[in-house]
Amino acid sequence: MTRLLLIGPPGAGKGTQAERLSEAFAVPAVSTGDIFRYNVKNDTELGLQVKAFMDAGAYVPDSLTNAIVSDRLQQEDAVDGFLLDGYPRTQDQVHELDRLLEADNGALDAVVLIVADTEEVVARLLKRAAEQGRADDTADVIRHRLAVYEEQTAPLIDIYSSRGLVVTVDGLGAVDEVTGRILDALAERGLSVPVASGDAASAS
Ligand code: AMP
Repeated sequence: MTRLLLIGPPGAGKGTQAERLSEAFAVPAVSTGDIFRYNVKNDTELGLQVKAFMDAGAYVPDSLTNAIVSDRLQQEDAVDGFLLDGYPRTQDQVHELDRLLEADNGALDAVVLIVADTEEVVARLLKRAAEQGRADDTADVIRHRLAVYEEQTAPLIDIYSSRGLVVTVDGLGAVDEVTGRILDALAERGLSVPVASGDAASAS
């Protein structure tokens, strides 16, 4: 049972690392950004509600975001642990997650903070814009997203630090290197990747 959060500025590589960690710890990666993008792409009612916020690089309202996460974490695959990518992003969302975990008698194991310098993340986001054509990856919107992160999300680091949960990892470098750093840092906290039964058999 592993419950992790991934925090970091836009462009720090959260999505890529979330996939790797989800596989390593055998828990579902829950990305609010992916859930919203899926709904926008498929023209669902939720998609229509969130599109304008996303295109502007603004946060989707807490009430909507919290309801989505509450629903997702109650699905069966998340009962034995999860990796949240891009949630919580506001203090209100922290309180909602606390409430959800309390109701479930659960607690977070660690909050992985991926740090990356602003020049680097802007360059990465512009590159992604050219490759993927995301509507929220234009230069102006990128700047706004970074400002919103600093104002609304960076303060959450203090909240989780005061709970002794934050593991800080440098997001600069090759994807594998960063994954290695995260796994090492988590292992130091006693959160080791579960050994698959096949591996255990061949190792003994
Ligand atoms: P991401 O892929 O995590 O960068 O998210 C893309 C966009 O989805 C953000 O810029 C927000 O508009 C919206 N979004 C994702 N997660 C949240 C969240 N936890 N709270 C509010 N808005 C969110």
